[in-house]
Amino acid sequence: MERIESYVAGAWAFGSDKAATLVNPTTEEPIAEASTEGIDFARALDHARSVGGPALRALTFAQRGEILRTLSRAIHASRDALIEAAIQNGGNTRSDAKFDIDGASGTLAHYADLGKQLGDTRFLVDGDGVQLGRSPRFFGYHVLAPRSGAAVHINAFNFPAWGLAEKAACALLAGMPVVSKPATSTALVAYRIAKIFVDTGALPPGAFSFIGGSPGDLLEHLGGQDVLAFTGSADTGFTLRTRPSIARGSVRVNIEADSLNTAVLGPDVTQGSDTFRMFLREVYRDITQKAGQKCTAVRRILVPASVASDVRDELASMLAEAKVGDPSRDEVIVGPLATASQLRDARAGIGKLAAEAKIVLGDGPFERVGVSGDKGYFVPPTLLHCADPDAARAVHEHEVFGPVATLLPYEGKAERAAELVRRGGGMLVGSVYSDDRAFVGDILFDLLPFHGRVYLGSEKIADQTPGPGTVLPQSVHGGPGRAGGGEELGGLRGLAFYSQRTAVQGSRPVIEAILELKK
Ligand code: NAP
Repeated sequence: MERIESYVAGAWAFGSDKAATLVNPTTEEPIAEASTEGIDFARALDHARSVGGPALRALTFAQRGEILRTLSRAIHASRDALIEAAIQNGGNTRSDAKFDIDGASGTLAHYADLGKQLGDTRFLVDGDGVQLGRSPRFFGYHVLAPRSGAAVHINAFNFPAWGLAEKAACALLAGMPVVSKPATSTALVAYRIAKIFVDTGALPPGAFSFIGGSPGDLLEHLGGQDVLAFTGSADTGFTLRTRPSIARGSVRVNIEADSLNTAVLGPDVTQGSDTFRMFLREVYRDITQKAGQKCTAVRRILVPASVASDVRDELASMLAEAKVGDPSRDEVIVGPLATASQLRDARAGIGKLAAEAKIVLGDGPFERVGVSGDKGYFVPPTLLHCADPDAARAVHEHEVFGPVATLLPYEGKAERAAELVRRGGGMLVGSVYSDDRAFVGDILFDLLPFHGRVYLGSEKIADQTPGPGTVLPQSVHGGPGRAGGGEELGGLRGLAFYSQRTAVQGSRPVIEAILELKK
């Protein structure tokens, strides 16, 4: 069986005991094991801080960008092998796997471009300088310099490639060494990428470490110059945020968690229009892609009551066509969930939703293409219809992490739709499909404080967007409240988390000469 090793203090290591088993979620067969037992995490962090940090900080943004370019190309060169690993360990269809892996290389390439644009400097100046005294001589600037600790990244099981790469891209470009930990259950793809990264020889010693399994006591050793970026469930996020070592050390923490994302169909959108088809296509994609295991997937579908039954029927017939089964087969659209416990949680979650909404599609037996017996962690596309969204609670509060969404009728008023959307308590993304500017204008400002991203679908862009479920590195990713309160990416904004913003005050000519600023 393959061993998922860790890369710490410049060497590959496998733990001495207590290995976790990784399985193929289609067949339930064991495929790999992971153990970090006995690994010295304090030493691993010291190595990152004392060797990787100085080496990265000595490089310019352009040089760090070149490293990212090499990593991006290396992932792309191994694309086919990584896709196979994602099918095997993640239950991804080929298309799901590409979404994750191309997302990883694409995000690294984006930050490589930003590094090139920033050029031969090692820090960022934030905004314009400002006069602080009676005369313009006493002046101040804000400077963003890389923190001198380690950037610890803890990722969720659903995006082992993209999750690793999007966090690493920002940290490495900012000048911080990375200690990356994937979710153990689907760590195979992340492990292969870690091997690829190290094998490029592009990373300075200590700039990248990888933890293949439990993080042990790693978080106990974090301090004030370190940062922790976490993606996963709200419960784990809460546990991490409230750890005494994190709180006491004022460790900077970013949390990307659950989200009850909503798609709102505007009352102006007529059946058969480009915007209507776009809405159906994108909702369908979010329910089926990665078997619905996307933090950005639509969970609540708000439609004007007047068209609710038509939308329900069209969507249900589209979803009924999506074949479920062995993700290595070309005809399969929906693979298995990643683990047995995800399957248990999804089934229990559907039960909760079904207490306040009617299951339109997905109840009862279903065909599993190419799968023997009842093996595998499959959930068929499941659509529910909640006739009374005001009375419902679970629909707005419980994220079912699978190919599951609930249709909610509303009275066709922007204000009412926004009211229901906000009951999700803070979301990563909300989408509105409408060609009526007045409706969009009315709803947008009610949605903004509750979202990290709002996506406005309309006929003008119907043929050129990847949909709301795709996180683009140019835009911020994260969301307030229940979604974790975090923020990642967003081009150069993503570097701020890994940097200390320091106000520098003094004589203007002196500061400008040191910072090499042009007047
Ligand atoms: P999870 O169970 O919270 O685990 C996430 C990560 O945290 C894993 O790497 C896990 O490691 C680690 N972990 C768990 N307990 C820990 C502890 N006490 N100390 C340190 N690390 C710990 O979440 P998941 O099941 O992997 O992911 C699914 C959830 O993630 C969903 O709710 C989804 O919405 C959310 N998600 C959010 C985003 C976003 O960007 N907002 C993206 C993707 C997923 P082990 O695997 O080794 O236990």
